Amino acid sequence: MGFSRLVRVLILSIMPAISNKPYRVGRSKTGLGLFATKPIKKGTRIIRYFGPILDSRIPAHDEIENKYLFELNGRWTIDGSVRKNLARYINHSCRPNAESDVRPRERKVFIRAIKNIEPGDEINYDYGTDYFKAYLKPIGCKCDSCEKKRKKLRAEARAERAKVKARSERKAEKAGAKGLENKAAKKKKLNGHAVGKAGARA
Ligand SMILES: [Zn+2]
Repeated sequence: MGFSRLVRVLILSIMPAISNKPYRVGRSKTGLGLFATKPIKKGTRIIRYFGPILDSRIPAHDEIENKYLFELNGRWTIDGSVRKNLARYINHSCRPNAESDVRPRERKVFIRAIKNIEPGDEINYDYGTDYFKAYLKPIGCKCDSCEKKRKKLRAEARAERAKVKARSERKAEKAGAKGLENKAAKKKKLNGHAVGKAGARA
């Protein structure tokens, strides 16, 4: 075993927890996000979404408000705003590659891959319609799927405007051509009358 290989083995054995994680926090379009660092197979449990469990029947708990609250059911909610909960960095997508596996009885949530995820891919799950309506719809969802849809709509609108413009230009051209014909015709007539008029004026 070469020295560098030995060092690598030692490092890997000292930090198994770090090297085993298939994700890292990184920059995304909307701030930070969670990205795969290794291939993640469809069906794999990627990370647990965790934090203090809040009981809505306790007024002090019910007053807690932050955007990392994960409702388990009518009563229990996970406050995922704690620093160690890296799953809080996972952004929403309308066409995600992961999903939340909610287990109210165990009061646990896991994020699980629903597609094969490649290293470098951002990990996303669908936050659900309530969250979408409350937080994303008003500002416009920035997920890849929605960005693509918006791009397509913009392209279609552009194409439609171009079509309308081309049509009106053709119309204007035709009208212009007709105008010239009319002018030419009028000129002839005017030329015809010109003599008489000039003569009348003189
Ligand atoms: Zn979206």
